[in-house]
Parts: sequence; structure tokens; C-alpha cells
Amino acid sequence: MGKNYVFGDVMIGKEEIQKRVSELGKEISRDYKDDSIVAICVLKGAVIFISDLIREINVDTKIDFMAVSSYGATTQSTGVVRILKDLDSDIEGENVLIVEDIIDTGLTLKYLKEYLLARKPKSLKICTLLDKPERRTADVKADYVGFTIENKFIVGYGLDFDERYRNLPYISYLEEE
Ligand code: 5GP
Repeated sequence: MGKNYVFGDVMIGKEEIQKRVSELGKEISRDYKDDSIVAICVLKGAVIFISDLIREINVDTKIDFMAVSSYGATTQSTGVVRILKDLDSDIEGENVLIVEDIIDTGLTLKYLKEYLLARKPKSLKICTLLDKPERRTADVKADYVGFTIENKFIVGYGLDFDERYRNLPYISYLEEE
């Protein structure tokens, strides 16, 4: 606290995001051809991404939402995952696709994956818009990755700092002043 943050450059522009999301949608559609998906949006960061992504998927798709605790007003991970909102639907026998905004340490996703696997889905895959592999401490890997990025604190296109900047149409980052 007491630190000041300034915006870095645009890291990934609007068009580049659109292009990559469309590619991911095509890849997912191919992989689940003639089948169905339950796409799980991890609130709130993945809201923008999943909205664009599912419109690029042309197989039978349902969406559901989960909320887990996040960092709050600091940029440090506590490693503590709390379920704030659970799924509305039963995923037993479904092809579950977890849609995440970013994988950092991987702790959130590792927990979520195990939590959802206990409900016996037919399959479970992970799609993340951003991946920061440098920071990984948990043993977890995404099946679909939008962009692999360096270790910066990202904002925009759904990602926040203290709930702000989610509405930026591009991906940027914050730096300590
Ligand atoms: P992990 O458990 O992998 O360390 O962190 C996962 C969650 O932390 C993400 O879903 C996201 O909400 C938050 N997070 C991780 N890195 C960043 C970042 O660079 N920017 C923002 N805004 N949130 C992040």
C-alpha cells in the first residue's frame, strides 16, 4: 500500500485480441465437434473473454459461473482460494471447459480443477486468455492459451486493479512509479 502505479504501454491491442480469440474458438469447435461444452466463467476477470469466445464457438455450448476470492487491492497472491459463488448446474457427464482470464501462480486453477473433477465431468479442459508461466508454483497447465506473457501486472479486457480498468478494450499493465 502507499505505492503509486502508472500505466505501461498497450501490451496487446484490440484487433490482436479479437484475432486470437477467434482462432481459439475455431480450435475449440474442432476439438468438440459433434459434442457439447459447459463453459465455466471464473468471475469476474474472465467475463469479457468468455463473452467473445463463446460467440466464436459453433458447437452446443452452455455457460455457468463461479466466483472465487481474488487479490483485492494489492497485486500479491495470498494462495488462499475461497468459493464465493458455486455453479448453478450439475456438470456430471459434461465436457467442462474452465475459462480463465490469467494463470499466474496457478493456485486458483489447481484448486478449481480438483474441485470440479470431484463432480465427475466427462472431460475437463482449461482455456486461459493469458499465461504467466514464470510465476507458476502449482502444477497446472492450460489446454488453450491465448497469449503467453512476461511477468507484469495486467489490466484491461476484464482484468482489474481494485475493480477498475476491466472495461479497457485492450490489454495493458501497471508498473510501480
Ligand atoms: P493464480 O492463482 O494463478 O496466482 O491467480 C489467478 C487469479 O489472480 C486470476 O484469475 C486473476 O484474477 C488474478 N491475477 C493474476 N495475475 C494477475 C494480473 O496480472 N492482473 C490482474 N488484474 N489479475 C491477476
